Amino acid sequence: MSPEGYEAVIGLEVHTHLQTRSKLFCGCSTEFGKAPNENVCPVCMGMPGVLPVLNRHAVELAVRTGVATNSEIATRSIFDRKSYFYPDLPKNYQISQYETPIGKGGYIDLPGDGQSKRVRLVRIHIEEDAGKNIHEMNSSLVDFNRSGVPLVEIVSEPDLRSANEAVAYLRELRAILRYIGASDGRMEEGSFRCDVNVSVRKKGATEFGVKTEIKNLNSFRFVEKAIEHEVGRQIELLEAGGKVQQETHLWDPEREETRPMRSKEFANDYRYFPEPDLPPLVVPTAMVESVRRAMPELPAVKRARYVRDYGLSGYEVAVLTAEKDTGDYFEAVLPGLKNVKTAANWVMTEVLRVANESGKAPAEAAPAAAEVGALLRLVEAQKISLNAAKTAFAAMCVSRKSAEVTVAELGLAQVSDEDAIAAACAKVITEEPDKVAEYRSGRDKLFGFFVGQVMKAMGGKANPKIVNEILKKKLAT
Ligand code: ADP
Ligand code: MG
Ligand code: ZN
Repeated sequence: MSPEGYEAVIGLEVHTHLQTRSKLFCGCSTEFGKAPNENVCPVCMGMPGVLPVLNRHAVELAVRTGVATNSEIATRSIFDRKSYFYPDLPKNYQISQYETPIGKGGYIDLPGDGQSKRVRLVRIHIEEDAGKNIHEMNSSLVDFNRSGVPLVEIVSEPDLRSANEAVAYLRELRAILRYIGASDGRMEEGSFRCDVNVSVRKKGATEFGVKTEIKNLNSFRFVEKAIEHEVGRQIELLEAGGKVQQETHLWDPEREETRPMRSKEFANDYRYFPEPDLPPLVVPTAMVESVRRAMPELPAVKRARYVRDYGLSGYEVAVLTAEKDTGDYFEAVLPGLKNVKTAANWVMTEVLRVANESGKAPAEAAPAAAEVGALLRLVEAQKISLNAAKTAFAAMCVSRKSAEVTVAELGLAQVSDEDAIAAACAKVITEEPDKVAEYRSGRDKLFGFFVGQVMKAMGGKANPKIVNEILKKKLAT
């Protein structure tokens, strides 16, 4: 049977840092990039006799994550100890949730052309992150800055069927987390990483095949590569009459390949038991309700609204809603404008360019959205050209002056004075008798040349509509 006769089955386990200022069970900062072991205390270093105190804000962000993914929120959940030994885990257990996670049974609908795809979630639970081992030259060191940083783990059902779908799911989940402010989703900082479970089966089969798990992927590209690689490997193995072994692979981001870990070492013998140092976590219904009420518009709803209300294309909608900031900026540009497409284009090209170049949010990198709106209204009113608007925009990024002041200061206002334009047209016609003759004998294409000459003569500021009208008249005679 050919590889086309197979189907991939994929389930993802995403670990995402919650955007709190302090850690899950102590007051240490969660700030990324500090010197090793700067953000530590006896609690997150697992000293004997210390006691965890739960971070309320982390719970609220976990509830937000649950509500935003249509999960059922447990009003009473339990923390458990997951026991294992590793140098980056000084307590020898991780505080997590096992039988009673905070969220259950949610789903995420993936964007698609026409029909959307629903991916069901098994569970969402709260846990603390471990530290980080650093292997340097001949020594191994441990940095505990990350130890105790709050996480939620979001586990999907094996509903995904291709590497592309898996990446689409991760993009959507990450967008939701960023929209609701639960996580910054910074993959390069390890704030959003995932374990990928992959199996294959013959198309039409109802049973799942044996899966392997690839741990610790922190980029969309790695996820895609790892899945494609693993699906290919499993199909080849089965085609050769072999069997897939249930095992765990580690992704090596430096070498861009997977390494098998011994499966025995990571068998589930974590000896989970309820954490005796923490009482059950009670989330009052009122808290869930207030989270629900404060929920911002989520990406899927925003996308549907942009299509319905603005008639934008799928691509435009995808770009404008990828980040909440971008959509907010775009909508703040709109008031008073007739042409939504112009605003959409402007945000997608000019605004996102300066935002990407500076690594800042649109509202910080670009002039205030209201001023960009004012600038585009000047274009619509034919007071300035689109090119002049670009010049003004660049100046406004630096000066932060208003559109009106900038256009005045830079002398960008378009000339609509018909006498001045007529004079310029007449001059060009006198200076170019050969071209005029050619045009009059039928070379219509030369019209653009005359427009260009008039524009040049008027420093690019002439109103092109009036230039066209006058030239047409004068050249016809
Ligand atoms: P484990 O006990 O090995 O952690 P779970 O049943 O908890 O396995 O599932 C872990 C993840 O693996 C989930 O995201 C789930 O969707 C996925 N998964 C389970 N079975 C399969 C399978 N046969 N193929 C691919 N993914 C699977
Ligand atoms: Mg697992
Ligand atoms: Zn601490």
